[in-house]
Parts: sequence; structure tokens; C-alpha cells
Amino acid sequence: MSIKLLNRMKKPVGVADMVLLEDVSEDGIVENLHDRYLKDEIYTYIGNVIISVNPYKQLQIYDREMILDYVGRNQFEVPPHIFSLADQAYRSMVDNNKDQCVIISGESGAGKTEASKIIMRYVAEITGKGTDIDRIKDQLLKCNPVLEAFGNAKTNRNDNSSRFGKYMDMQFNHNGDPIGGVITDYLLEKSRVVHQQEGERNFHVFYQLLRGADDATLSTLHLTRNAEDYFYLSQSSCNKLPTMDDAEEFRTVLEAFSVMEMTDKERQSIFSLIAVILHLGNIDFRGYSLPNGTHACEVKKSDSLRYVAQLLEADEADLIKVLEVRKVTTRREVVETTLSEDNARDNRDALCKAIYARLFEWMVKRVNKTIAVKNKRMKRRGIATLDIYGFEIFDDNSFEQFIINYCNEKLQQIFIELVLMQEQDEYVREGIPWTHIDYFDNAVICELIEGKGGIMSMLDDTCLRPGNQDDGIFLESLNRTHKIVQHRHYESRAKSGFYSDSSMGREDFRLVHYAGKVTYNVQGFVIKNKDALFADLTQFMYNSCRHNLGKTLFKDGQILGGQTAGKRPVSLSKQFMSSVSDLMSNLMAKNPHYIRCIKPNEKKQARLVNMERLRHQVRYLGLLENLRVRRAGYAFRMDYAKFIERYKMLSRLTWPNFKGSPRDGVKYILEDGCDLTKSEYTFGRSKVFLRNPKTVLKLEDIRRAQ
Ligand code: ATP
Ligand code: MG
Repeated sequence: MSIKLLNRMKKPVGVADMVLLEDVSEDGIVENLHDRYLKDEIYTYIGNVIISVNPYKQLQIYDREMILDYVGRNQFEVPPHIFSLADQAYRSMVDNNKDQCVIISGESGAGKTEASKIIMRYVAEITGKGTDIDRIKDQLLKCNPVLEAFGNAKTNRNDNSSRFGKYMDMQFNHNGDPIGGVITDYLLEKSRVVHQQEGERNFHVFYQLLRGADDATLSTLHLTRNAEDYFYLSQSSCNKLPTMDDAEEFRTVLEAFSVMEMTDKERQSIFSLIAVILHLGNIDFRGYSLPNGTHACEVKKSDSLRYVAQLLEADEADLIKVLEVRKVTTRREVVETTLSEDNARDNRDALCKAIYARLFEWMVKRVNKTIAVKNKRMKRRGIATLDIYGFEIFDDNSFEQFIINYCNEKLQQIFIELVLMQEQDEYVREGIPWTHIDYFDNAVICELIEGKGGIMSMLDDTCLRPGNQDDGIFLESLNRTHKIVQHRHYESRAKSGFYSDSSMGREDFRLVHYAGKVTYNVQGFVIKNKDALFADLTQFMYNSCRHNLGKTLFKDGQILGGQTAGKRPVSLSKQFMSSVSDLMSNLMAKNPHYIRCIKPNEKKQARLVNMERLRHQVRYLGLLENLRVRRAGYAFRMDYAKFIERYKMLSRLTWPNFKGSPRDGVKYILEDGCDLTKSEYTFGRSKVFLRNPKTVLKLEDIRRAQ
């Protein structure tokens, strides 16, 4: 063990594992996390779940020496650390030949992405060396900056906020060496491409390209270095960050592109689509009224228009047409309607969002091609990390929060199920009777959202209605079915998770999530759920452009027999529900580990804790529930051999060397050494179980006093 670690261990703060807390309450948890945090102990356990509080400063606990300190060590021997969790996951994969997953949750800026990188670094460090293995490790580590360039952005809450959910499965051969991986992404926040809130930025890659590309590249793309020249980058009074060197990051992306063996042509295609988006954003419209009173518009002639046509290799006339006029092709006829100035802007924005979102999808696929396991028949095991947006409760909550919170609700559901299942499995394995544990079951709210006749299906029904498809109709049907209509129904309705009271606005509905009540405003639900891109835009991209990658991204625009190739688009909520359901079955089949990240303050400052915010997160991460489940029955357990090794000095019968059966040894320590009564502990097949966490503290006290 390194001196650094030994020094840290001399000064324990609070309790490292909260099962040992004297005060099992929200206050107890908050206080312990707070005290430890102020002493730079940012990690704390609840059993094998890690709570991580963002330090907002570089701690000296991540170097190679520290990594080696954690290799093969049992969790209780060393201070809590993500390394310990990574080590357990890795060992468990190798020793038990079982897939592992690490579920990382927490709000924006709490440290999820950093945690996932810490796991990757640990695994890369402790696994084998060799040309092939090193190449794979390099690829696995380097694809991260690419995904961050395209999928992360500066928000008001985090300078490097992931605007998509990421599930990354690292795969290993039977020796435990990495052989590749697969990444799945969830719901990119594509609206950011065309609009950012004050103080926020667009996705990093836009600024990186402008600041980092060489002059020749920029000139082929007709771009300037100045972000302010582009409407999509100039609306939010923020285009530069003191903490981020965009040009340098761009070089990292280019380096990663080389590792990905990206061809020059691929590279140019990617950058030209980014440029197309920037130029499209600068195209504006002039509206006018037709003699019959309908609105129409014309594109203002500009260089931007010329550049877009040139970069997409399309005729300018076709481009103008698709920007000014909506063309709807039905079985019988083609109907053209003029667009008002505002509609034309929305139309332009929709095209840009689609190009970017599809480019991002393509990029994830491209990364996957690089890191895919080359030998398809090779037997493999994996460690997956899930870095996904945490629960969101804002002042205004919309469709996005609804979707995100639904995902978290499902994660909470499997969290509780898996924690309970693991507990139960261990009891059965160890031959100890299992007693039922009561816990907060959120199945009701999950059912309300995803079940038959639930909120998602009502939303889809509204979207499919011919004619009027507005948010009001959706809310009406929600209220009709779920609202508490009569007092005597109050009980049963309230239990359904749908909630209503007079404090709510006319456009609102409220759900009782496990993490608290959230009021959603229905405005925009229908349109966002439809997520439709007009067929004429996809057709334009596929048929009128000769840009190769552009065509690949918009294959659904191909016209076959007079009809567009694309099928009826699946609603966003359906897509999301189906990917969440895949994700859940994937996670359920693996051995889970958990990291719950907490953001201590809003100012991104070290050593500052906002107690209200801390308490809030403790609540919606469900930590008290977690602790209760963990402490029910036997709060503490340890292998016989490890137990004797640690506490043998507590009894004359086991000190200095004990030769008998491990179970006897433990018995001597507990009865002879500590005077414990029989009801306080029980013997499993390979472990001793202690009922009261205080017993462990007592053991530790006596041990220290010896
Ligand atoms: P989002 O949901 O917005 O993507 P996140 O939970 O992924 O947020 P991170 O990007 O991981 O948050 O962390 C935000 C910032 O906090 C980091 O850029 C870094 O500055 C700081 N940070 C997080 N974890 C650590 C750590 N372990 N050590 C030092 N700084 C950290
Ligand atoms: Mg992140």
C-alpha cells in the first residue's frame, strides 16, 4: 500500500459505509456526506453502492500509484473509491465469467461522465499489454473525445454537459484483456443545434472546427474563424470558455479520427455537413402575402445560400424551392403550399436538426465500427457503463423532462429490484433464511406512463388523430382518465401516481415520481412526440444532393414508385420506450454496480456545499431507501478468512495464528473477544453476517485499542 493511501487511512472522517451510520435518516446521510466532502473524502458507500460528490478540483487520488493500491483489494480495506468498484466489477467478470454493468446516475454536472472515464482508465491500466491490446485500449479511450465533441455542450449547469445518454460496453477475452466495445446512444438533444439559452453554447464541435481547422479547410468550407458570424452560434452571448481550448480539442478529435482510420473523404464529408448547418442558419427569409391572403416567403439571396448548394452539391434552385415551399406528396397528387416567414425558419431549423442528429447517429456507428470486436466468434464478457441524464425537476418541465424522468423511474425500479435480488441471492447462497423487506414500489407510476392506456399511449393516440392534434386534446384525455374526479375516488386515483390540484396551471399535469411530484406543461408534447420531418426535406437530401454522406443519412428520402421509401415514422415516445425496454433487459442480465453522483453546489466551486441541494439529491437518488434495504436483516457481512485476518487480535484463541476452521475462529473472536450474543450474528456458508452495524464499529474500536 502506498504511503499516500496509508496517510489517508489514518484520518477517517464520518463513516465510509453508511450502513454503519448511527442515525439512519435523511439527516444522517446528508451530514455524513457533507463532513466527508469537506475533508476531500468524496466517495462513500452504501453497501456496494458508491455515492460520489463532485469535488470540483483535481484530487491526488487518480494516479497510477493509487490504481495499484486498489488492485485485488477488498472494498473495506481501502478508502471508498471508484477504482474499488471497477476492480470488483473486473474481478467478478473474470472470476465468475459474468457480464457486469455500472449504472451511473445523478443530475447534470454531478460527475457521471468523469466517473465513467475513471472506470475506463482503471480497466485500461490493470489489463494486459501488447501491441494489439494497446491499440484496442487506445481506440476505446480515444473515441470518447469524438463523442464528446459532437454530443456535449456548455450549458449553464455544466461546461461539458453530455446532451445524450450513453451506454458503453467494453468487451474482454477469456484472459480478461480488452478486445473491443459497443456504444449505444440515447436521445440527443438536437434542438440545441438551432437554439441555445442565454449563456449556453451549441455542441462543442462547431467551435472546435472554426478555431482548430487549418486555413485551407476553412476556406473550402467557406467558413470564417469567428463564431459570431453564424446565427446558430451567436444567439446566446457565449461562444468561448475559459476552461476549454477549442483549437486544442479539435486536434484531439483529429487524432481520434486517425485512430479510427477515418478517410480524408469521410473527414471532409463530416466537416462539410457541419458547415452546411452553419450556412443554413444564416439563410433568412422575407415574408409577403399572396393576393388570396395566404402567407408566402422568399429566401433572401446571399452567399450562404450559394455555399449550402455548393457544399451539398445541389442546384441552388432546388434548395430555394425546398426552403420556400412545402410539398406534400400523397398517393393521388402533389400539393404545394407556400410557407410563411416563420414557418420557413422552422422548416430550415428542422432540416438542420435532422442533419445534425443523423450525423451524430452515423458517428456513433462509425465509432462502433472502429471498436467492434474483430473476431466475431470470440467468446467475450463485458463491463458496461451507463452514463445517463438524471432525474430533472425544473420550474418548467416539458416533454424532454417527462421522457428523462420516465427513464429514471425505470432505472430506479430495476435498482431496487436488483439490490433486493442481490441481497436475496446472497442469503440463499449462504443458506440464511430470507425475510421479506418492505420498500417503496414505483411499479404504479411506471405502469401509468408506459402501460396500456397509459400516458405514452394516450399521447400516441392524440398524434395519430386525423385533423386536430393538439396538446389540449391530449391533456383532456389524460384528465378524463386519470384525474381525481370525485372525492371518494381520491384514494385510488392518487395511488395511480397522477395528481391534480388547484395550484396547477390549465396546461399542466402532475405526476408523483419516486423522487417527488413533478408538474409538466403539455405545450409541445404532441409535436415533439411526432418528431416528424417533412418528406420533402428528406427527399431533397437524398434526391437533389450529390453529397455522399448526406445521401447516406437520408436514405428514407429515396422515392420508390412515386412514394418515399421511409415508412410512417415511429413516435419518439415509442422509440424511447422500446430502447429503454431493451436497455432494462440488458441491464437485468448483468451483475450491477452503482455510482450515484451528487452535485454539491451550483457554482462549480470546490469545498462549497449547498445543504438544501444536497438533501434534495439524497432524496431523489433514493439513498435512504437504498440504505434501509441494505440494513434490513444483516447489515454487514465478511468472508470468514478476511474476518479472521482483520480481527484475530481480538481473542486470545485466534492470536497470533489460528489454525482451526474459519467458522470457529470467527466464533471465538465474536464470543470470546467481544462478548456478543448469538442473536447478533449468523454464519453463512462462506461469510459471517452481523445484524447490527454498531457491532462492526465496536470491533474496529477494540482492534484500534489493541
Ligand atoms: P451532465 O449530465 O451534464 O453530462 P455529468 O454528471 O456528466 O453532467 P461531468 O461532466 O462528469 O458531469 O462533471 C462536470 C464537471 O465536474 C467536470 O467537467 C469536472 O470539472 C468536474 N468533476 C466531476 N467529477 C470530478 C472528479 N472526480 N474530480 C475532479 N473534477 C470533477
Ligand atoms: Mg456527462
